[in-house]
Amino acid sequence: CGIIGYVSGGTVETDVIDVLMDGLSGLEYRGYDSAGVAVANSTISVQKREGDISALEAALSDRTVGGAAGIGHTRWSTHGPPSDGNAHPHTDEDDRVAVVHNGIIENYRSLRDELEANGYVFESDTDTEVVPHLIADALDAGAGVEEAFRRAVDRLDGSYAIAAVYSGSETVYAARQSSPLVLGVGDDGHFLASDVPAFIEYTDRVIYLDDGEFATIDSTNIVVTERDGTVVDTSIETIEWDA
Ligand code: GLU
Repeated sequence: CGIIGYVSGGTVETDVIDVLMDGLSGLEYRGYDSAGVAVANSTISVQKREGDISALEAALSDRTVGGAAGIGHTRWSTHGPPSDGNAHPHTDEDDRVAVVHNGIIENYRSLRDELEANGYVFESDTDTEVVPHLIADALDAGAGVEEAFRRAVDRLDGSYAIAAVYSGSETVYAARQSSPLVLGVGDDGHFLASDVPAFIEYTDRVIYLDDGEFATIDSTNIVVTERDGTVVDTSIETIEWDA
């Protein structure tokens, strides 16, 4: 029941997956039944496992791929039992986008029916999987990656903290509604997470996202916007945290 996102600043040699795994460890206290990560470079690599973080760690032990942007998730199942397939991240059929989500998408059934009627094939029992397919549908309709993310989130009712990465992109896109999400401003790269312990070892400078806001995070910038695209004038707070 936590999410982490990270985009490396590129000046320090950091392994994005190590940062994501540290982040997931920092969120373990929230409880979970499965965990997973996705890293984007020219393609998207996903690893996810039912069970505790050590099961994911073992699955990652022979990894060879890296990338500058990634997302991670600890799942507390609400729709679909704990399993490798129901663990997040979830992707579209062409692996163009990977998505992690905390919360509940109340209207997922009607969205899924609509997407399946349009030929999209689902692989999991989760409410979350409608999101990557909605994004794919928007991309197919000609939207750019940020617009596709916004259009997909606009269709959702319920509670969500969502983060997405795209193949061929080094940006993490995020949105929240009734689920926590905080952004971390690092010296070398930027973070997002459900809670500060996920990245406190890297930075104590944070921006709290409000309900209905979107965030675009890349190696040098964090941009927060309203639902209609208006840029929010954010303030960075330095927090005190006894780790
Ligand atoms: N509703 C989603 C699922 O069951 C997300 C659960 C969570 O918040 O971890 O997969």
